[in-house]
Amino acid sequence: MECDEKLLRFRQAHLNPFNKQPGQGQHDQEAGDDLSCRDSLLGLSHGDPGFQCSERVMDLGLAEDHFSRPVGLFLASDIQQLRQAIEECKQVILELPEHSERQKDAVVRLIHLRLKLQELKDPSEDEPNIRVLLEHRFYKEKSKSVKQTCDKCNAIIWGLIQTWYTCTGCYYRCHSKCLNLITKPCVRSKVSHQAEYELSICPETGLDSQDYRCAECRAPISLRGVPSEARQCDYTGLYYCGNCHWNDLAIIPARVIHNWDFEPRKVSRCSMRYLALMVSRPVLKLREINPLLFNYVEELVEIRKLRQDILLMKPYFITCKEAMEARLLLQLQDRQHFVENDEMYSLQDLVDIQAGRLSCSLTEIHTLFAKHIKLDCERCQAKGFVCELCKEGDVLFPFDSHTSVCTDCSAVFHRDCYYDNSTTCPRCARLSLRKQSLFRGPSAEEQA
Ligand SMILES: [Zn+2]
Ligand SMILES: [Zn+2]
Ligand SMILES: [Zn+2]
Ligand SMILES: [Zn+2]
Ligand SMILES: [Zn+2]
Ligand SMILES: [Zn+2]
Repeated sequence: MECDEKLLRFRQAHLNPFNKQPGQGQHDQEAGDDLSCRDSLLGLSHGDPGFQCSERVMDLGLAEDHFSRPVGLFLASDIQQLRQAIEECKQVILELPEHSERQKDAVVRLIHLRLKLQELKDPSEDEPNIRVLLEHRFYKEKSKSVKQTCDKCNAIIWGLIQTWYTCTGCYYRCHSKCLNLITKPCVRSKVSHQAEYELSICPETGLDSQDYRCAECRAPISLRGVPSEARQCDYTGLYYCGNCHWNDLAIIPARVIHNWDFEPRKVSRCSMRYLALMVSRPVLKLREINPLLFNYVEELVEIRKLRQDILLMKPYFITCKEAMEARLLLQLQDRQHFVENDEMYSLQDLVDIQAGRLSCSLTEIHTLFAKHIKLDCERCQAKGFVCELCKEGDVLFPFDSHTSVCTDCSAVFHRDCYYDNSTTCPRCARLSLRKQSLFRGPSAEEQA
């Protein structure tokens, strides 16, 4: 992070890399450590003939404060060297053990190198409308008055005098001058590739397993706040630096599912964006993840019943011209999954259930649907059932509360009649009789 800031100030020509400020001894120490670590990463010893060259290349904006040349003096050969460094870095990544901390560091370094190369290639390009970076799709914002905070540098975006961009995928916002410093890939792709929540509550493994570095940008952190504060994300359980974790609050899916706990907790920026993009996605199969929830949360049982009824009403609507014209099913367009199944829930569904909103709106829709089928529409009314067991009473519909539905042929009976005669469904019996006669041949059917 610090590196990015320096690089930024350097680019804005606010920082003369040759002016060492007093009190930077500590810093040099760190940079030195960083250097030796990097050497070992690249597999270079100081006796290695390749060392000089690579070292110089790596300094093109990657080291802490080792800008080794005057401002603005980037030459064509720099691009060559950067390309070479990128190739070397790729090789290193391949050679290091998979998922190791050193490999992750090398990946971050590779991203930096690529960004630097991109910047060198088009140094004076004039603010295009669309920029695609690390799977983000950045659009230039027109609004001048809105006061926003840059997701990269945490500073305010002054719309009047500064150009800024928003990613259409994940809503990441940043100054145009910060665009090339971005190291975080778009979370939208994570949502499409990995549309599954972490369902363990705050799965902490400890700072040591993170090598005392920010889980995202790899900046050094500790709980004592030295060199910078470690902030835990309640969703991932990992620790982040202050640049990657702004103490945003979010409802945690795992806490909802296991504890029916909707208290918002502190999460990292990246988790916040991911959770926001995921909130309406029906990815929670409650019955499988925590079936006990239905025993403890009455509202869930009510919602499940309403959803089951709506699925029973759906066949009426998709075969009824009038209902199609009235676009009745569009009442549920915000919760398309309610028209498809009765077991998948989005986090938003659960939030609305807990707040009592979903039960209200779903009951209203249920009433509206039932009214169409049973009262308003002759076509739908005609598709009602007369109980074949008692042959008495009103026309029945499968979503009526006092009915039972034959699972084989979908015929509808009074619940009481069906349980009394629980052995056979008269409709199924008739159907099987007809099938038998068909099997015996046309002459037999004539006789029947
Ligand atoms: Zn910025
Ligand atoms: Zn994005
Ligand atoms: Zn960080
Ligand atoms: Zn109808
Ligand atoms: Zn009956
Ligand atoms: Zn039947």
